[in-house]
Amino acid sequence: MKEIDITRAIINFHFRALLDNIQTDVVIVGAGPSGLVAGGYLARDGFKVTILEKRLSPGGGIWGGGMGFKYAAVQEEATHILQDFDIQFEKDESGLYIVDSLELASGLIHGAIQMGAHIFNLVTVEDLVVRESRVVGVVINNTFALMEGFPIDPLTIKAKVVVDATGHEHDVVATLSRKNDVKLNTPTGKPLGERSLFSEPAEKGVVENTKEVYPGLFVCGMATAAVFGYYRMGPIFGGMLLSGERLAKILKKKLS
Ligand SMILES: Cc1cc2nc3c(=O)[nH]c(=O)nc-3n(C[C@H](O)[C@H](O)[C@H](O)COP(=O)(O)OP(=O)(O)OC[C@H]3O[C@@H](n4cnc5c(N)ncnc54)[C@H](O)[C@@H]3O)c2cc1C
Repeated sequence: MKEIDITRAIINFHFRALLDNIQTDVVIVGAGPSGLVAGGYLARDGFKVTILEKRLSPGGGIWGGGMGFKYAAVQEEATHILQDFDIQFEKDESGLYIVDSLELASGLIHGAIQMGAHIFNLVTVEDLVVRESRVVGVVINNTFALMEGFPIDPLTIKAKVVVDATGHEHDVVATLSRKNDVKLNTPTGKPLGERSLFSEPAEKGVVENTKEVYPGLFVCGMATAAVFGYYRMGPIFGGMLLSGERLAKILKKKLS
């Protein structure tokens, strides 16, 4: 075993994967539950899906369950998604289904990759490429470079559609709105901001508002609450899974 072979293989595989993804069908920004579900289903249907995650670990807010207690709740309507990703669940006396948040996070990551999505971690989307009033790509940089504030120029990825799955931060939509004179598909033309916790309407709102917010830019998961002025919901994840599933259906129709 030669050290140089280990190095060469890693560099070869990484750059082959990166080159294969610089022009893609769908860029999903954020590897939380909604982005992973959407990415997995779209890749399974034959689309080229590139998921960009700024942190070391994909999974977004799943890992911590509720307040660091490692279980999360899912409603019955979303249990078919758990089955698709081969994640175990148990019915609680309340009628809710309980999942181990570690299995939920790792199962969604594993499932999305197995279905064919490419996930790149430690990649931050810092801006968008906008042409003729349409989002046509993302501007990416190394997370460490941004954390240290190094003056390093970014690179770009071209995509048929871009998805903001960045959760509470709604980072992509916020950046588009802040940097460009654009009118979003919201009542004020701007992100409306998230409201205080109210689980039931929040769960419905996240799914109903999974849609195109600007030509070429879609929003799913918790980011929809921030963009469309809905409530947060706490550690119940059915809405996130269903939002990802709904987005996959919308984009499948659009891209076909
Ligand atoms: C670290 C974290 C902890 C959380 N803890 C709780 C909690 O304890 N209780 C609770 O009720 N809710 C919590 N949430 C939110 C909760 O988990 C959400 O309801 C749910 O996870 C949202 O799912 P989502 O798919 O919308 O995206 P999220 O799970 O929020 O994931 C979004 C992902 O996008 C990534 N991202 C953000 N901006 C960029 C960018 N510019 N480029 C690339 N990637 C980006 C983030 O790193 C994250 O992994 C947390 C979210 C996060 C991210």
